[in-house]
Amino acid sequence: MRPARALIDLNALRHNYQLARESSGARALAVIKADAYGHGAVRCAQALQDIADGYAVACIEEALQLREAGIRGPILLLEGFFEAEELALIEQHEFWCVVHTQWQLEAIERSSVKAPLTVWLKMDSGMHRVGFHPEQYEGAYKRLQATGKVGKIVLMSHFSRADELDCARSEEAFEQARQALNAEVSLRNSPAILGWPQLFPQPQSNNWVRPGLMLYGATPFEVEHALASQLQPVMTVESKIISVRELPAGEPVGYGGKFVCERTTRVGVVAMGYADGYPRHAPTGTPVAVDGQLTRLIGRVSMDMLTVDLTDLPDAGVGSRVELWGKQVLASDVAMSAQTIPYQIFCNLRRVPLLYTDV
Ligand SMILES: *Cc1c(COP(=O)(O)O)cnc(C)c1O
Repeated sequence: MRPARALIDLNALRHNYQLARESSGARALAVIKADAYGHGAVRCAQALQDIADGYAVACIEEALQLREAGIRGPILLLEGFFEAEELALIEQHEFWCVVHTQWQLEAIERSSVKAPLTVWLKMDSGMHRVGFHPEQYEGAYKRLQATGKVGKIVLMSHFSRADELDCARSEEAFEQARQALNAEVSLRNSPAILGWPQLFPQPQSNNWVRPGLMLYGATPFEVEHALASQLQPVMTVESKIISVRELPAGEPVGYGGKFVCERTTRVGVVAMGYADGYPRHAPTGTPVAVDGQLTRLIGRVSMDMLTVDLTDLPDAGVGSRVELWGKQVLASDVAMSAQTIPYQIFCNLRRVPLLYTDV
Protein backbone atom coordinates (compact mmCIF):
# COMPACT_ATOMS: atom_id res chain seq x y z
CA MET A 1 0.00 0.00 0.00
CA ARG A 2 1.24 3.47 -0.81
CA PRO A 3 2.40 5.02 2.47
CA ALA A 4 1.03 8.55 1.89
CA ARG A 5 -1.71 9.51 4.36
CA ALA A 6 -3.15 12.32 6.42
CA LEU A 7 -3.62 11.87 10.16
CA ILE A 8 -6.38 14.01 11.63
CA ASP A 9 -6.13 14.78 15.34
CA LEU A 10 -9.68 15.49 16.48
CA ASN A 11 -8.57 16.40 20.00
CA ALA A 12 -6.51 19.22 18.54
CA LEU A 13 -9.60 20.35 16.63
CA ARG A 14 -11.55 20.55 19.87
CA HIS A 15 -8.74 22.41 21.58
CA ASN A 16 -8.65 24.98 18.78
CA TYR A 17 -12.41 25.42 18.83
CA GLN A 18 -12.32 26.08 22.56
CA LEU A 19 -9.52 28.57 22.05
CA ALA A 20 -11.65 30.46 19.52
CA ARG A 21 -14.54 30.62 21.91
CA GLU A 22 -12.59 31.43 25.04
CA SER A 23 -10.36 34.06 23.48
CA SER A 24 -13.34 35.84 21.91
CA GLY A 25 -15.83 35.33 24.72
CA ALA A 26 -18.40 34.88 21.96
CA ARG A 27 -20.37 31.99 20.53
CA ALA A 28 -18.55 30.31 17.66
CA LEU A 29 -19.76 28.78 14.43
CA ALA A 30 -17.21 26.17 13.37
CA VAL A 31 -16.53 26.90 9.71
CA ILE A 32 -16.36 23.49 8.03
CA LYS A 33 -16.96 24.47 4.41
CA ALA A 34 -14.92 22.80 1.65
CA ASP A 35 -15.01 19.49 3.52
CA ALA A 36 -13.63 21.19 6.63
CA TYR A 37 -10.72 22.65 4.68
CA GLY A 38 -9.80 19.15 3.56
CA HIS A 39 -10.11 17.58 7.02
CA GLY A 40 -13.45 15.83 6.42
CA ALA A 41 -16.57 17.84 7.33
CA VAL A 42 -18.67 15.05 8.80
CA ARG A 43 -15.97 13.70 11.09
CA CYS A 44 -14.99 17.20 12.20
CA ALA A 45 -18.62 18.14 12.88
CA GLN A 46 -19.13 14.95 14.88
CA ALA A 47 -16.00 15.63 16.90
CA LEU A 48 -17.35 19.07 17.83
CA GLN A 49 -20.98 18.03 18.25
CA ASP A 50 -21.12 18.34 22.04
CA ILE A 51 -19.31 21.69 22.22
CA ALA A 52 -20.04 23.63 19.02
CA ASP A 53 -22.63 26.41 19.00
CA GLY A 54 -23.16 25.64 15.31
CA TYR A 55 -21.47 25.19 11.98
CA ALA A 56 -20.98 27.20 8.81
CA VAL A 57 -20.65 25.91 5.25
CA ALA A 58 -20.54 27.45 1.80
CA CYS A 59 -23.66 25.97 0.25
CA ILE A 60 -26.71 23.81 0.77
CA GLU A 61 -25.01 20.73 -0.68
CA GLU A 62 -22.48 20.86 2.13
CA ALA A 63 -25.19 21.49 4.73
CA LEU A 64 -27.31 18.56 3.54
CA GLN A 65 -24.31 16.25 3.77
CA LEU A 66 -24.03 17.17 7.46
CA ARG A 67 -27.74 16.70 8.18
CA GLU A 68 -27.72 13.35 6.38
CA ALA A 69 -24.86 12.29 8.65
CA GLY A 70 -27.02 13.13 11.65
CA ILE A 71 -25.52 16.49 12.58
CA ARG A 72 -28.05 18.50 14.57
CA GLY A 73 -27.82 22.12 15.57
CA PRO A 74 -27.51 25.29 13.54
CA ILE A 75 -25.81 25.22 10.15
CA LEU A 76 -25.27 28.57 8.46
CA LEU A 77 -25.06 28.85 4.67
CA LEU A 78 -22.34 31.47 4.24
CA GLU A 79 -23.52 32.61 0.83
CA GLY A 80 -27.17 31.88 1.47
CA PHE A 81 -29.06 30.25 -1.37
CA PHE A 82 -27.97 30.30 -5.01
CA GLU A 83 -31.48 29.60 -6.31
CA ALA A 84 -34.82 30.49 -4.74
CA GLU A 85 -35.88 26.83 -4.87
CA GLU A 86 -33.42 26.08 -2.08
CA LEU A 87 -35.62 27.97 0.38
CA ALA A 88 -37.88 24.95 0.84
CA LEU A 89 -34.91 22.83 1.96
CA ILE A 90 -33.63 25.64 4.13
CA GLU A 91 -36.99 25.72 5.88
CA GLN A 92 -37.25 21.94 6.14
CA HIS A 93 -33.77 21.46 7.63
CA GLU A 94 -33.78 24.70 9.62
CA PHE A 95 -30.60 25.95 8.02
CA TRP A 96 -29.54 29.49 8.83
CA CYS A 97 -29.05 31.61 5.80
CA VAL A 98 -26.89 34.58 4.85
CA VAL A 99 -28.68 37.21 2.76
CA HIS A 100 -26.12 39.30 0.92
CA THR A 101 -27.93 40.64 -2.09
CA GLN A 102 -31.20 42.17 -3.23
CA TRP A 103 -32.51 39.24 -5.23
CA GLN A 104 -32.21 36.94 -2.22
CA LEU A 105 -34.26 39.37 -0.18
CA GLU A 106 -36.91 39.51 -2.90
CA ALA A 107 -36.91 35.72 -3.19
CA ILE A 108 -37.72 35.47 0.52
CA GLU A 109 -40.54 38.00 0.07
CA ARG A 110 -42.01 35.94 -2.76
CA SER A 111 -41.44 32.55 -1.16
CA SER A 112 -44.05 30.48 0.57
CA VAL A 113 -41.92 29.59 3.61
CA LYS A 114 -43.83 29.64 6.87
CA ALA A 115 -41.36 28.74 9.59
CA PRO A 116 -39.47 31.85 10.63
CA LEU A 117 -36.06 31.85 8.95
CA THR A 118 -32.87 32.82 10.75
CA VAL A 119 -31.07 35.26 8.50
CA TRP A 120 -27.55 36.62 8.75
CA LEU A 121 -27.72 39.92 6.90
CA LYS A 122 -24.40 40.76 5.32
CA MET A 123 -23.01 44.24 4.92
CA ASP A 124 -20.30 45.10 2.42
CA SER A 125 -17.99 46.97 4.75
CA GLY A 126 -15.15 47.32 2.27
CA MET A 127 -14.33 43.94 0.78
CA HIS A 128 -16.57 44.84 -2.18
CA ARG A 129 -17.41 41.29 -3.00
CA VAL A 130 -20.85 40.57 -1.57
CA GLY A 131 -23.11 42.25 0.96
CA PHE A 132 -25.42 45.25 1.08
CA HIS A 133 -23.96 48.71 0.81
CA PRO A 134 -24.01 50.43 4.22
CA GLU A 135 -26.59 52.93 2.99
CA GLN A 136 -28.97 50.16 1.96
CA TYR A 137 -28.34 47.98 4.98
CA GLU A 138 -30.92 49.30 7.40
CA GLY A 139 -33.51 49.31 4.64
CA ALA A 140 -32.77 45.68 3.86
CA TYR A 141 -33.08 44.80 7.54
CA LYS A 142 -36.50 46.45 7.81
CA ARG A 143 -37.70 44.86 4.60
CA LEU A 144 -36.67 41.42 5.83
CA GLN A 145 -38.51 41.99 9.08
CA ALA A 146 -41.58 43.09 7.18
CA THR A 147 -41.77 39.83 5.22
CA GLY A 148 -43.11 38.09 8.30
CA LYS A 149 -41.02 35.07 7.27
CA VAL A 150 -37.91 35.95 9.20
CA GLY A 151 -37.35 35.41 12.90
CA LYS A 152 -33.91 36.39 14.07
CA ILE A 153 -31.63 38.62 12.01
CA VAL A 154 -27.90 38.61 12.83
CA LEU A 155 -25.84 41.55 11.60
CA MET A 156 -22.81 40.31 9.75
CA SER A 157 -19.81 41.48 7.80
CA HIS A 158 -16.49 40.06 6.68
CA PHE A 159 -13.14 41.81 6.70
CA SER A 160 -10.97 42.05 3.64
CA ARG A 161 -7.76 42.70 5.54
CA ALA A 162 -8.15 40.93 8.85
CA ASP A 163 -4.81 39.18 8.42
CA GLU A 164 -2.93 42.45 8.35
CA LEU A 165 -2.29 42.95 12.00
CA ASP A 166 -1.43 46.61 11.70
CA CYS A 167 -4.61 47.35 9.82
CA ALA A 168 -7.11 47.36 12.68
CA ARG A 169 -9.57 49.70 11.00
CA SER A 170 -12.73 49.88 12.95
CA GLU A 171 -15.63 49.19 10.70
CA GLU A 172 -17.48 52.41 11.24
CA ALA A 173 -20.36 51.80 8.89
CA PHE A 174 -21.03 48.51 10.57
CA GLU A 175 -20.79 50.03 14.02
CA GLN A 176 -23.44 52.61 13.10
CA ALA A 177 -25.81 49.93 11.89
CA ARG A 178 -25.21 47.89 15.00
CA GLN A 179 -26.15 50.78 17.23
CA ALA A 180 -29.25 51.54 15.19
CA LEU A 181 -30.53 47.98 15.01
CA ASN A 182 -29.47 46.48 18.32
CA ALA A 183 -29.18 42.86 17.20
CA GLU A 184 -26.68 40.01 17.45
CA VAL A 185 -23.48 40.61 15.56
CA SER A 186 -20.91 38.55 13.68
CA LEU A 187 -17.75 39.99 12.21
CA ARG A 188 -14.73 37.92 12.89
CA ASN A 189 -12.99 35.09 11.06
CA SER A 190 -9.76 33.49 12.31
CA PRO A 191 -7.34 36.37 11.69
CA ALA A 192 -9.71 38.81 13.35
CA ILE A 193 -10.40 36.47 16.31
CA LEU A 194 -6.68 35.97 16.89
CA GLY A 195 -5.48 39.40 15.92
CA TRP A 196 -8.04 41.77 17.36
CA PRO A 197 -9.36 40.27 20.57
CA GLN A 198 -10.24 43.60 22.14
CA LEU A 199 -11.53 45.47 19.15
CA PHE A 200 -15.22 45.08 19.73
CA PRO A 201 -16.48 46.57 22.95
CA GLN A 202 -20.10 45.41 22.76
CA PRO A 203 -21.17 42.57 25.05
CA GLN A 204 -19.44 39.51 23.66
CA SER A 205 -22.33 37.26 24.61
CA ASN A 206 -24.28 39.02 21.87
CA ASN A 207 -21.63 38.11 19.42
CA TRP A 208 -20.75 35.29 17.05
CA VAL A 209 -17.33 34.49 15.72
CA ARG A 210 -16.66 32.35 12.65
CA PRO A 211 -13.39 30.49 13.06
CA GLY A 212 -12.24 28.45 10.06
CA LEU A 213 -8.51 28.18 9.55
CA MET A 214 -7.66 28.42 13.23
CA LEU A 215 -9.80 25.34 13.98
CA TYR A 216 -7.35 23.35 11.93
CA GLY A 217 -4.44 24.72 13.92
CA ALA A 218 -2.74 26.93 11.36
CA THR A 219 -1.83 30.54 11.87
CA PRO A 220 -3.11 33.05 9.32
CA PHE A 221 -0.19 35.35 10.09
CA GLU A 222 3.29 35.41 8.59
CA VAL A 223 4.80 36.69 11.84
CA GLU A 224 5.03 35.21 15.34
CA HIS A 225 1.81 35.67 17.26
CA ALA A 226 1.24 34.72 20.90
CA LEU A 227 -2.37 33.56 20.65
CA ALA A 228 -1.83 31.79 17.33
CA SER A 229 1.09 29.88 18.83
CA GLN A 230 -1.40 28.17 21.17
CA LEU A 231 -3.09 26.48 18.22
CA GLN A 232 -2.49 22.77 17.71
CA PRO A 233 -2.06 21.47 14.15
CA VAL A 234 -4.84 19.01 13.31
CA MET A 235 -3.61 17.51 10.03
CA THR A 236 -0.33 15.67 9.62
CA VAL A 237 0.47 14.64 6.06
CA GLU A 238 3.11 11.97 5.97
CA SER A 239 4.62 9.42 3.66
CA LYS A 240 7.83 7.40 3.36
CA ILE A 241 11.12 7.35 1.54
CA ILE A 242 10.83 4.78 -1.26
CA SER A 243 14.27 5.10 -2.84
CA VAL A 244 17.68 6.62 -2.07
CA ARG A 245 20.64 7.42 -4.28
CA GLU A 246 23.89 9.25 -3.86
CA LEU A 247 24.79 11.73 -6.59
CA PRO A 248 28.04 13.60 -7.18
CA ALA A 249 28.20 17.37 -7.38
CA GLY A 250 26.93 18.67 -10.69
CA GLU A 251 24.20 16.03 -11.22
CA PRO A 252 20.66 17.31 -11.75
CA VAL A 253 17.63 15.96 -9.87
CA GLY A 254 14.08 15.75 -11.16
CA TYR A 255 12.16 17.31 -14.05
CA GLY A 256 13.92 20.05 -15.92
CA GLY A 257 17.10 19.47 -13.94
CA LYS A 258 16.07 22.47 -11.86
CA PHE A 259 18.16 21.34 -8.93
CA VAL A 260 21.83 20.56 -9.46
CA CYS A 261 23.76 18.94 -6.59
CA GLU A 262 26.16 21.46 -5.05
CA ARG A 263 28.07 18.64 -3.34
CA THR A 264 27.85 14.88 -3.08
CA THR A 265 24.20 14.52 -2.17
CA ARG A 266 22.08 11.70 -0.78
CA VAL A 267 18.72 12.11 -2.41
CA GLY A 268 15.61 10.52 -0.91
CA VAL A 269 12.51 9.97 -3.02
CA VAL A 270 9.21 10.41 -1.17
CA ALA A 271 5.85 8.95 -2.21
CA MET A 272 4.05 12.32 -2.32
CA GLY A 273 3.38 14.66 -5.19
CA TYR A 274 1.19 17.39 -6.53
CA ALA A 275 -1.57 14.88 -7.29
CA ASP A 276 -1.83 14.53 -3.51
CA GLY A 277 -2.09 18.28 -3.18
CA TYR A 278 1.50 18.99 -2.26
CA PRO A 279 2.16 22.40 -3.84
CA ARG A 280 3.94 21.98 -7.16
CA HIS A 281 5.50 25.39 -6.79
CA ALA A 282 7.24 24.60 -3.51
CA PRO A 283 10.87 25.45 -4.23
CA THR A 284 14.11 23.79 -3.18
CA GLY A 285 14.53 24.59 0.50
CA THR A 286 10.90 24.05 1.52
CA PRO A 287 11.04 22.36 4.96
CA VAL A 288 10.22 18.67 5.42
CA ALA A 289 10.97 16.36 8.35
CA VAL A 290 12.49 12.90 7.92
CA ASP A 291 12.33 10.66 10.99
CA GLY A 292 11.72 13.77 13.05
CA GLN A 293 14.66 15.74 11.69
CA LEU A 294 14.27 18.84 9.60
CA THR A 295 15.66 18.90 6.08
CA ARG A 296 14.66 20.37 2.74
CA LEU A 297 12.85 19.61 -0.44
CA ILE A 298 15.12 19.61 -3.50
CA GLY A 299 14.21 19.78 -7.19
CA ARG A 300 10.80 19.95 -8.77
CA VAL A 301 7.77 18.33 -7.20
CA SER A 302 6.32 15.76 -9.60
CA MET A 303 2.87 14.19 -9.69
CA ASP A 304 3.48 11.20 -7.41
CA MET A 305 6.93 11.79 -5.99
CA LEU A 306 9.18 14.46 -4.62
CA THR A 307 12.82 14.48 -3.58
CA VAL A 308 14.46 15.51 -0.32
CA ASP A 309 18.02 16.06 0.84
CA LEU A 310 19.28 13.27 3.13
CA THR A 311 22.95 14.23 3.00
CA ASP A 312 23.05 15.28 6.65
CA LEU A 313 20.73 12.49 7.82
CA PRO A 314 22.92 9.38 7.49
CA ASP A 315 20.45 7.21 9.42
CA ALA A 316 17.56 8.00 7.10
CA GLY A 317 16.83 5.59 4.28
CA VAL A 318 14.14 3.61 2.52
CA GLY A 319 11.15 3.34 4.84
CA SER A 320 11.95 6.50 6.82
CA ARG A 321 8.86 8.47 7.78
CA VAL A 322 8.52 11.86 6.11
CA GLU A 323 6.29 14.64 7.45
CA LEU A 324 5.27 17.03 4.68
CA TRP A 325 3.30 19.19 7.10
CA GLY A 326 1.85 18.67 10.53
CA LYS A 327 3.01 19.20 14.09
CA GLN A 328 6.68 19.58 13.25
CA VAL A 329 6.63 21.22 9.82
CA LEU A 330 3.85 23.80 9.97
CA ALA A 331 1.48 23.99 7.01
CA SER A 332 1.83 27.76 7.20
CA ASP A 333 5.60 27.46 6.69
CA VAL A 334 5.14 25.20 3.68
CA ALA A 335 2.58 27.70 2.37
CA MET A 336 4.92 30.63 2.82
CA SER A 337 7.70 28.78 1.06
CA ALA A 338 5.39 27.93 -1.85
CA GLN A 339 3.99 31.47 -1.97
CA THR A 340 0.52 30.43 -1.06
CA ILE A 341 -1.58 30.32 2.11
CA PRO A 342 -2.27 27.46 4.52
CA TYR A 343 -5.94 27.57 3.48
CA GLN A 344 -4.96 26.37 0.04
CA ILE A 345 -2.46 23.81 1.32
CA PHE A 346 -5.28 22.15 3.28
CA CYS A 347 -8.02 22.48 0.67
CA ASN A 348 -5.85 20.99 -2.07
CA LEU A 349 -5.26 17.74 -0.22
CA ARG A 350 -6.53 14.77 -2.24
CA ARG A 351 -5.89 11.12 -3.02
CA VAL A 352 -4.38 10.35 0.39
CA PRO A 353 -6.55 8.51 2.94
CA LEU A 354 -7.62 10.47 6.01
CA LEU A 355 -7.01 8.59 9.26
CA TYR A 356 -8.66 9.92 12.41
CA THR A 357 -7.50 9.72 15.97
CA ASP A 358 -10.69 9.69 17.97
CA VAL A 359 -11.82 12.11 20.55
C1 LIG B 1 -14.63 31.03 5.17
C2 LIG B 1 -15.28 32.07 5.99
C3 LIG B 1 -14.91 32.26 7.33
C4 LIG B 1 -13.76 31.52 7.98
O1 LIG B 1 -12.59 32.23 7.70
P1 LIG B 1 -11.18 31.80 8.33
O2 LIG B 1 -10.25 32.87 7.91
O3 LIG B 1 -10.86 30.48 7.75
O4 LIG B 1 -11.38 31.75 9.80
C5 LIG B 1 -15.61 33.19 8.07
N1 LIG B 1 -16.61 33.92 7.51
C6 LIG B 1 -16.98 33.78 6.23
C7 LIG B 1 -18.06 34.62 5.68
C8 LIG B 1 -16.32 32.87 5.42
O5 LIG B 1 -16.67 32.74 4.14
